[in-house]
Amino acid sequence: MSILVIIENQNGSIHRISREAIVGAQSLGTELGLPVKALVFGNNIQPLVDEVSAYDLSEVLKVENELLSDYTAEGWTSTLQQIIVQESPSYVIVGHSYQVRDYCPKLSVRLKKPMLSDVAGFTIDGGKPVFTRTTFNGKLNSGIVITGDAPALICFQSAAFQADSIKAGSAPIREVTISLSSEDILSKPEAPFQEETGGVDLSSARLIVSVGRGIGKMENIPMAEALAKKLGAELGSSRPVVDAGWLPQSRQVGSSGQTVSPKLYFALGISGAIQHIVGMKGSKNIIAINKDGDAPIFEIADYGVVGDILEIVPKLTEALP
Ligand SMILES: Cc1cc2nc3c(=O)[nH]c(=O)nc-3n(C[C@H](O)[C@H](O)[C@H](O)COP(=O)(O)OP(=O)(O)OC[C@H]3O[C@@H](n4cnc5c(N)ncnc54)[C@H](O)[C@@H]3O)c2cc1C
Repeated sequence: MSILVIIENQNGSIHRISREAIVGAQSLGTELGLPVKALVFGNNIQPLVDEVSAYDLSEVLKVENELLSDYTAEGWTSTLQQIIVQESPSYVIVGHSYQVRDYCPKLSVRLKKPMLSDVAGFTIDGGKPVFTRTTFNGKLNSGIVITGDAPALICFQSAAFQADSIKAGSAPIREVTISLSSEDILSKPEAPFQEETGGVDLSSARLIVSVGRGIGKMENIPMAEALAKKLGAELGSSRPVVDAGWLPQSRQVGSSGQTVSPKLYFALGISGAIQHIVGMKGSKNIIAINKDGDAPIFEIADYGVVGDILEIVPKLTEALP
């Protein structure tokens, strides 16, 4: 019995969402007393294998195959199906990326095993994991217990776990072979989809001042920019601010924007809709200013101020050295 984490290769490095998935798998492994293995597959992947072997894992499985140079649903599904059958893990863990959305349902059907998408976390009840999924646009949480024979495919939502909580270690590497021929690959991949970032990498920002619809109008954006400048922070935003054309899409945080995990996230006039929360809940400290004391953002904020940002932000900026 074991847990198998599937690692996603992002231009030769481990995808952030896979590091989060390792944290989730390590935590599940500790709770259930199961060893955690990671699978790295692709072409010319030794640097990635070395990177993954520096984590606290029972072993790293390596599948090197030139037919896995570029992503195809068939190549990925066939490889994973073979490895899962060989290794028979109890749980297969992946980060819920675009790629996973594409191949994982196919893998689930091939294996005739359940797949849980967008899992936000888990609790343990009677020695069994209860996986949490949000429903009704984040208004309710549902707890899901897997029944039937292992394995189950568990897709952890972006920011379900904090990547920097990953436990370091030194895992042995085991080479594994699979059978794959060019006839198995039916599609021809195009260049991978790139999210528009316009040069703004909010994911590595240490401080973010983020504005929501509560900023009122475009003319008020410089007020938030001034605070960001004083703090040495990047400017972020919720989606309505982008939709209104007040800031470019590259500034948007959330499920259809960037996922961020700064040391400090200022949420100014942001209500705290689930699509925004999933993009910033990994922040170490969240300070929310909102004139509605019942705004959901206060449920995840470390510090909350009920007040008008148009009054508070200029005074705060002035007060800062
Ligand atoms: C498929 C899909 C994807 C989405 N992706 C994203 C995404 O990536 N990112 C994202 O952010 N949203 C996303 N959304 C939209 C999301 O559902 C919310 O509509 C959005 O996050 C709300 O933004 P907001 O908090 O700025 O605005 P609102 O919900 O309108 O909240 C404005 C807040 O400002 C407060 N306020 C108003 N005036 C002031 C003031 N003067 N001082 C202080 N507080 C004030 C109000 O009390 C309120 O809480 C998505 C939606 C869908 C359906």
